[in-house]
Parts: sequence; structure tokens; C-alpha cells
Amino acid sequence: MNDREGIASPKRTKEIIAKHHFSFKKSLGQNFLIDQNILGKIVDAADLDKSKGALEIGPGIGALTEKLALNAGEVAAVEIDRRLIPILNDVLGPYGNVTVREADVLKVDLKALFSEVFVSSQKVSVVANLPYYVTTPILMKLLEEKLPLENIVVMIQKEVAERMSASPGGKEYGSLSIAVQYYSEPELVCIVPRTVFIPQPNVESAVIRLKVREKPPVEVADEEHFFTLVQASFTQRRKTIANNLKARYFAQEGRERMEGLLAEAGIEPSRRAETLSMEEYARLSAIFLREGLR
Ligand code: SAM
Repeated sequence: MNDREGIASPKRTKEIIAKHHFSFKKSLGQNFLIDQNILGKIVDAADLDKSKGALEIGPGIGALTEKLALNAGEVAAVEIDRRLIPILNDVLGPYGNVTVREADVLKVDLKALFSEVFVSSQKVSVVANLPYYVTTPILMKLLEEKLPLENIVVMIQKEVAERMSASPGGKEYGSLSIAVQYYSEPELVCIVPRTVFIPQPNVESAVIRLKVREKPPVEVADEEHFFTLVQASFTQRRKTIANNLKARYFAQEGRERMEGLLAEAGIEPSRRAETLSMEEYARLSAIFLREGLR
């Protein structure tokens, strides 16, 4: 079966689509990969071997799933589109180590799926060409649920990949950068042109690897408070940190108290949210919590 041309080629993709009379649904972000080279880069970045498991979100017609079946021990693939399930069962027939589940990944109980499928895997990674309309909710679910993950290697919109991996100071840096970097270490693997998909998406893509952290890089007593404070700081990017925080936390009180708290955290009130590091936000969150500012 390894001699056969992989699914990720224009010829085989068109054959499979024609055989099953499949029509693409734009609303589900269906852009299928037709390039073995890019597929190889995605799988290599996940650092898989037969002792490890892989969770794929949105297998489509199985281009990446097939590679995962060959390179990982146990594979789970969660697909929302019912029409793709018989196609996946057909093309993945030769591989005994793949479990296909029809579900919306945002609703499925991932912990239960993990204990059901990854019985002998020592480590598990998520490997996927994500549907772009739900990239952020999917990644935040994976990270916030604190699943036992090693890597998350995903194809996403290039612009979102740049925001996730941005450092303080630039215009890409924002609450998404902080949320992703709190849970993981992001690394851009490669930029991907539109031409490697059928149909071609409207945007450029990138493969990003999130190496999941064992523990966050900063100490935070109340994660909800920390992330609310970060979001409030970026409400209006052109405003200073002092103005954004005043609007959220100091409606009834004077600027003086807030400036005092910012000074205690070592932060100039005239700075903008995009210049603050994660450590500075963590410091500020601890001070605001102590003061009962929620
Ligand atoms: N993995 C395939 C490939 O690389 O060719 C297909 C990738 S395509 C960009 C995204 C896939 O995610 C589609 O198959 C789509 O039906 C599926 N999908 C969209 N929303 C989903 C959701 N909420 N849960 C699970 N799968 C979803």
C-alpha cells in the first residue's frame, strides 16, 4: 500500500472527490491539501514515531490522516462533515490504527476521546490543517483544557500565525500572542502558498508548531483575572495602558490610584498595551487582585 500515490496529489484528490460525488462546503473551511512536500513538513515538525499518538482535527478526505497513520502509533481524527465519514472509511481502510469520529471538535469531550483512543501512546500531538473560520477557538480549547499534549502542529492563516508568535513591541503582538505563549512556545515552521490547496483559499497560510509548556512561564494566581486584564489593556490599541485600564477598572475612581498601582508594577502609564511583556501583565494582575480590582 505504501507504493500507492498518496492522497495529497491533485490526481488522487480529484479521483476521490469524483468517485464519491463530493462537493466542497466553504462554510466548513474545506481547503484540501494536494502537496506531499508540505505534508511532509507538517508531519516532520510533529516529531512523531510509533510510540506516539496523533489527534487530527478535520481530516477531510484523509490526505494528512494517511501520513499520520504511517508515522504515529495511534491516530484519532475528528470530522464534522458527515458526508466525509464514508470517504474516510474507504481511503483509510488499509490502516488499522485510525479512529474516525464524526463530531464538532468544539463540542466533543476530548479527555474522553483521549482515554479511549490513546491507550498505549506515551505522548500525543495535535496535527491538523485547520478550518480557518474556527482556528482560534479550537486552539484555545486545546490549550485551556490542559490536555496531555506534546506539540500542536497546525496549518493556519499566515496572519494568525504571526500574531500567535509575535513578541512585545510590534503591531502583531496582542492578547492572542499572550494567551498562546502562556501555554506554549510557538515556532513558525513554514509559509505556505495558496496553490497547494483545492480549492485555493483567499489568504496565505503558515504551519506553526506550539510546543506545549509543562507550566506557564509566569506565576498567575487567577488565570481568568489575568486574561481579562490583558484583554482590557488592548481594548483600544491606540490608547495608553492607563486609559484602557481606567475604563475597565477605575470607572468611579481617580487616575492617581491607578497610576500608583502601575508605578508599583514598574510600568509607565503612558505605555501602550503592545509594549508590555507577559511578566508585566502577571505583576499587574497580582497587584489588581490584591486591591480587589476585578
Ligand atoms: N485535513 C484535510 C486536508 O488537509 O486536506 C482537510 C483540511 S480542511 C482545511 C478543514 C477540515 O475541517 C474540513 O474537512 C472540514 O469539514 C473540517 N471541519 C470544519 N469545522 C470543523 C469542526 N468544528 N470540527 C471538526 N472538523 C471540522
